[in-house]
Amino acid sequence: MKRALITGITGQDGYFLSKLLLSKGYEVSGIIRRNSSMHQGTLEKLDPKERKQIKIYYGDITDNNFIVSTIEKIKPDEIYHLAAQSFVGYSFENPTFTYHNNIMGTLNVLNAVKEKSKNTKLYFAATSELFGKVANAPQNEETPFMPNSPYAISKLAGYWTAKSYREAYNLFFCNGILFNHESEVRGPEFVTRKISMKVAKINNRDNEPLILGNLNSRKDWGYAKDFVEGMHLMLQQEKPDDFVLATGEQHTVREFVEEAFKCIDKEIIWEGEGVNEIGKEKDNNKILVKVSKEFFRPIEAENFLGDYSKAKRVLGWKPKTKFKDLVKIMVENDINEPKNNE
Ligand code: NDP
Ligand code: GDP
Repeated sequence: MKRALITGITGQDGYFLSKLLLSKGYEVSGIIRRNSSMHQGTLEKLDPKERKQIKIYYGDITDNNFIVSTIEKIKPDEIYHLAAQSFVGYSFENPTFTYHNNIMGTLNVLNAVKEKSKNTKLYFAATSELFGKVANAPQNEETPFMPNSPYAISKLAGYWTAKSYREAYNLFFCNGILFNHESEVRGPEFVTRKISMKVAKINNRDNEPLILGNLNSRKDWGYAKDFVEGMHLMLQQEKPDDFVLATGEQHTVREFVEEAFKCIDKEIIWEGEGVNEIGKEKDNNKILVKVSKEFFRPIEAENFLGDYSKAKRVLGWKPKTKFKDLVKIMVENDINEPKNNE
């Protein structure tokens, strides 16, 4: 039985990856930061049978002793290093925490493999945010990086550390340069889930509008369930390498909003510009969307479009879920989740 260790198992990708690896017969272990209420994040949404099979190690990736002893104990065949402060917006507010958590935490994990478990294959969760202020689209593995947020800069350090350790010490380390991927368990502060949760509430007679920042930001949004399959495939190859995973389709935040409201039979008409722009319901002029400065970023990385042809050629991976289906999955899930409808 193959052993896998997932850092960041309580997050969005941890949820889908746990399900995937359990379905493939892996023995799955996960690292969880202890909290006073003993919440286990997205793991609480797993089927109880699945949850019971996961071995939990309580600790923090920035605690080197804990990481070394955990990896030494498990000697996993595969590590999926997903743990990170992953919210770009927050990284502008707290760059120090973001750098410390993401860079030192990653260094601990990579060093522990190098020192204690050299045969472990490792996946590092890099990101399309590395491309940052890029002018050209689409972006692939050869596109130069121009990171423009503390989050992206912290991930660039992880990317280069994984790549240089691979070359220097002959380790099986892969970087997944993943474009945005969303789902029904996406964190509520990310724009897609913020939209789907609010649309579900409006469907349940919430009268307050959805308030957003930059509606014109363009992203390449896929479904997390498809993307974790690509992570797994990277570690099943003969040689370690880096891969872009994306959908190859670009949509604006505005389109996501329009599509989400369509799921509850509301058509949006836009009026005004910038922070004065509003989205009204076509049938009755009710204001459903407003814009606020509060949700704009100091600088924006807004032209993301991924070229996943290398992953398709080498891994045989391609995304399965189309944009409209992703929006529908998210809105329908939130409509059916009583907590989101209060
Ligand atoms: P989430 O934010 O949903 O999950 C992050 C996870 O990391 C949580 O389990 C969190 O634990 C854990 N974590 C953070 N800091 C620590 C720490 N110091 N010690 C232990 N655990 C910690 O992210 P996603 O699942 O969406 O993404 C997974 C990875 O992929 C992240 O590294 C992200 O940056 C990267 N990525 C994500 C993309 C996306 O679109 N989703 C795109 C490209 C890259 P807790 O529950 O305690 O907060
Ligand atoms: P990111 O791509 O990892 O930063 O994911 P987010 O979901 O946080 O942001 C996606 C895009 O939506 C970014 O370009 C944001 O500027 C834009 N956006 C517009 N309004 C909002 C909002 O209210 N919240 C968030 N999180 N992002 C917003």
